[in-house]
Amino acid sequence: MIRLVLFGRQGAGKGTQAVMLSEHYKAPHISTGDMLREAVAEGTAVGQKVMAILDAGELVPDETMLEVIHDRLAHDDVEQHGFLLDGFPRTVGQAKSLLKIATVDLGVNLEVPERLVLERISSRRVCQQGHIYSVNDDAAREGVCPIDSTLVEQRDDDTPEAVTARLDAYKMKTAVAMAYFDSQGLLLSVDGVGEPEAVFRRLVEAIDARLDHDDRW
Ligand SMILES: [Zn+2]
Repeated sequence: MIRLVLFGRQGAGKGTQAVMLSEHYKAPHISTGDMLREAVAEGTAVGQKVMAILDAGELVPDETMLEVIHDRLAHDDVEQHGFLLDGFPRTVGQAKSLLKIATVDLGVNLEVPERLVLERISSRRVCQQGHIYSVNDDAAREGVCPIDSTLVEQRDDDTPEAVTARLDAYKMKTAVAMAYFDSQGLLLSVDGVGEPEAVFRRLVEAIDARLDHDDRW
């Protein structure tokens, strides 16, 4: 059983690695978005609270998010197999609160240089049906999706300016949350550059070595 928190910039390939790690360690992949949807669908007390917040178009406050996480971590699958938390904590306050309500073996920082992430995201082009292309693909050059003939463009969210703003916010907030994990002896940084399979092997090796070393098994 393993209890991990995954950190990584947007565009670092965190989602892909989370799915692979979750399969490898048999630990449920818990992303904040899914967790909120589940809580609403289950209609728990906190789920109803979340629904009211989302209906009002507001952001779910930390306190409520922690209640949702607390409930989710009490499920049987987590008790048996641990968890792989993705998308939380994003701030140092959230990091401190999380470590109060849950035992975490390790925070894993999937490290991809900012320049690379910026390049990856700002070269992305998307059709109106959501097919994704790179700026050098024929579809992007011609501006038409070969699958559904809709327009292929850069999303407003993917312009270098927008991506830079998100990366800056990450540096200001999530990097501080990671520093807090580090101060607790709970951070492992792994090079996230390369093919997904290679990065995955690197992650598993580093995680296993670290946890063996800490003698937590
Ligand atoms: Zn398309």
